[in-house]
Amino acid sequence: MPVKPSDKEEEFFARREFEARKKLREEQQRQLEAAERARLKELHHMHCPKCGMDLIEIDYKGVKLDKCSACGGLWFDAQEFETILSQEQSNIKSIFNIFGR
Ligand SMILES: [Zn+2]
Repeated sequence: MPVKPSDKEEEFFARREFEARKKLREEQQRQLEAAERARLKELHHMHCPKCGMDLIEIDYKGVKLDKCSACGGLWFDAQEFETILSQEQSNIKSIFNIFGR
C-alpha cells in the first residue's frame, strides 16, 4: 500500500518545483532579452540614428567616422569623440570641412 506523503514533504516538493520553474523562466527571460538585443543591433547597426539610412565608415587620421549616406549626418563613437577632441584644432576643422556638410 502506497504511503501518503506528509504535508511537509508535499510542501517541500511544491517549493522545489516552483524554484526550478522560476529558474527556467528567468533563463528564458535572459535568452529573450539577449535575442532582442541582437535583433535590435542587427536592425540598427550602421544605420543613421536620425533618418535610418546606411552609414558609411570613413577612416581619417586614425578616427573612424560614420557618415550618413542620405542626410549627411556625421557620427562617431565615444572614444572617437575623445580622440577628435585631443587632436589639434586644425585637424578637427579639416575633418568637418572634408566630411561635414
Ligand atoms: Zn541620416
